[in-house]
Amino acid sequence: MSKSRFLFVGAVLAALLTGCRSVQQHQPEVTYRYGVPVRQAILDPNEYNLAHKYGPKFEKVDYITIHNTWNYAPALFERTYLNNRRDGASISFHFAVDEKEALQVLPLDTRAWHAGDGNGPGNGRSIGIEICRSRCIGDDEPLYRQAEENGAHLAASLLDQYQLPMSCLRKHQDWTGKYCPHRILSEHRWESFKAHVKQIRNEHRIDAAKSVAATTPVKPAAKPAATPEVKKAKEAKKEVKPAAAKAVKETATPKVKKTKEAKNANPKAAASPAK
Ligand SMILES: [Zn+2]
Repeated sequence: MSKSRFLFVGAVLAALLTGCRSVQQHQPEVTYRYGVPVRQAILDPNEYNLAHKYGPKFEKVDYITIHNTWNYAPALFERTYLNNRRDGASISFHFAVDEKEALQVLPLDTRAWHAGDGNGPGNGRSIGIEICRSRCIGDDEPLYRQAEENGAHLAASLLDQYQLPMSCLRKHQDWTGKYCPHRILSEHRWESFKAHVKQIRNEHRIDAAKSVAATTPVKPAAKPAATPEVKKAKEAKKEVKPAAAKAVKETATPKVKKTKEAKNANPKAAASPAK
């Protein structure tokens, strides 16, 4: 009797634990892109959304496109609004980013309708990032500033993921002439925004080089050349060597630190003329 009760209690506990685990599996997945929490919030794949918000599959991603939402709202509102929109417009984007997080609302193998150029390169070959809170001013201005900062990190991470040069960071305006991202444009900061994204990419390259250097064993214990991990680490080191090694060296010298400060003081000076 006591044994069967024990088994019964065990079964109940097992069911509860399994239940907890299945709940955990349904929680939204959070990953980090250059320090920005990115929450998976993929649009419901219902018939309407598939027809009006999910584009065809990407053949290639060649650009990252920056937008402002022209709104006060956070990313979650923008995602919910988009998910529930039923006005017949074909409109969507890949990420909405605010001061706290980025929400990914479409898979990265799927085109979105964000650039207004039909099947042109804006929609057809670029990932769309909506930087939220762009009408926040006064006491709420810090919300926008942080949203834009997170947007810059997200863009840097995507450019690196797709191995794209800085000239592939575009604004909505580049595709159709629309005044978007309005906040960045009205403050005449597109070039300094790009320079900031470039700086973030450089910092991550330096960090990556440092971590490769730190994890490469000085005296390998046993035949490291034979293991794929070490080969990979060596290849990675080789890849980043010319630019990154130089950059690591430069950060150690006060001269470069001063240059960096000067750049921060005058963001326009750091702006890349390349487009
Ligand atoms: Zn736009």
